[in-house]
Amino acid sequence: MRVLIVEDETTLRAQLVRAIAESGYAIDEAGDGETAEFMGATEPYDAVVLDLGLPKLDGITILKRWRAAGIATPVLVLTARGAWTERVEGIDAGADDYLPKPFQMEELLARLRALIRRASGHASAELRCGGLVLDTRSNRVTLDGSPIGLTAHEYRLLSYLMHHVGRTVSRAELTEHIYAQDFDRDSNTIEVFVGRLRRKLGRDLIRTERGLGYRLEVP
Ligand code: CA
Repeated sequence: MRVLIVEDETTLRAQLVRAIAESGYAIDEAGDGETAEFMGATEPYDAVVLDLGLPKLDGITILKRWRAAGIATPVLVLTARGAWTERVEGIDAGADDYLPKPFQMEELLARLRALIRRASGHASAELRCGGLVLDTRSNRVTLDGSPIGLTAHEYRLLSYLMHHVGRTVSRAELTEHIYAQDFDRDSNTIEVFVGRLRRKLGRDLIRTERGLGYRLEVP
């Protein structure tokens, strides 16, 4: 899962990047509205955290342009404290949720998890596929009750497949959703990660659809 963080206050942006990265997401960041609009329009994010007061282009305009262009990425807007008109404007412009500043990081993380799982049709914070359980709150994975230790990339890859269980996902799509923009991407490494996941989870859980990609099968 990959998240774009748009915030012009550098201290807050750094806090957001750290907290959201620690929660198992690949992160891109933007500090002004023009950069943010371009990134959101050209990269396939699983969610965006969008501050509304930004240099060069304000958050409401960015959101309206994305929605007019058919970009349906879930967006959590950060609004000024007490500015209820901003919240109304944000929701009307296409925001999926909002959080007034200042906020507790834990609340932002919980809202972000909920947005991402609802966008892929999951109501529960625990994603299940047979005996495999991924808890999006703790980033813990268990198989038939036993904990499975995963690296950050293995976790992101499995999390993406679990969010899209039953659907065949191409290597290109996996690459786009588990790496940040500035990361040196190589779609061959996807095969390596899948191989490692199979060694940890058993060979049959992740199916290969030759020429198409990978699929977690609902048992
Ligand atoms: Ca701001």
